[in-house]
Order: sequence, then C-alpha cells, then structure tokens
Amino acid sequence: MGTLLAEGIGDTIRVSAAGDPVIETGIAKQILISLGLYPAPKLQLIVCPTCARTEIDIAGLARKVKKAVITIDRPVRLAVMGCIVNGPGEAADADLAVCAAKNKAFIYRKGKKIATVAENQIIPMLLRLLNNL
Ligand code: SF4
Repeated sequence: MGTLLAEGIGDTIRVSAAGDPVIETGIAKQILISLGLYPAPKLQLIVCPTCARTEIDIAGLARKVKKAVITIDRPVRLAVMGCIVNGPGEAADADLAVCAAKNKAFIYRKGKKIATVAENQIIPMLLRLLNNL
C-alpha cells in the first residue's frame, strides 16, 4: 500500500486493523508521514515491535511516553525499546532511547548509556532529559 501511494497511485487511504478501530487513523497517518505525504511531527517516537525478549508491556509504556511528550514541539528522535540485548543497537541513532528491562530501564543518549532508572521513573527522567536537550 505504501509503495502505491509513493508512486502517486490513489489519493485515499483506508486501513483496517484488529481491535479498536480508533487506531486505524493513527496507522494511516503514520504511513503517510513515512512517505512524506503528511507533515511529520517534530518529535519522532520510535517503538520496537517487541519480541520474545521483551520483559515489560512495551505498548503500554509507549502509550504513556507518547502521552507525556505529545506537546513537545522540538526535533527529537525518541525510541522506546523492549530489551537491553538489541534495543541499544537498534536505537543507536535516536537522541534518547529507553531500553526496558524487568522493573527498570536503561536510558541512552545518542547511543551511550547515561542512566538506569526504576520503571516508575522512566517518564520523569525522559522529561528532564528532553528539557535539557
Ligand atoms: S529491541 Fe529487543 S524486544 Fe524490541 S524487537 Fe528488538 S530484540 Fe525484540
């Protein structure tokens, strides 16, 4: 679908997803943003797809992070990753990355580990760091 839009074929997008249909417009918007067909927010939130390595609810954490940073209008790449094994490498080009582990997270700035925080301190720490970027 993305390829068709990138080629200029079609001017409407309709996405179907399992679960709550409210997420469908968000998915469609992300596809358009990735193709440069819709203005991208300055703050980019990247979330790993999760896999068997994940030890926490990454989708839930990503929703909380998104809610906390939604009003930040600066060009920042922020990654929320589900593990410490591959997360740091996969998020190496992010300005800030959270690599979650059981009950805690490791915070990276431009690929370098700068802090370890308890799970309930992830968002306060991110907000502090975002304010100082
Ligand atoms: S960052 Fe970790 S949990 Fe997320 S997809 Fe990669 S390996 Fe899996």
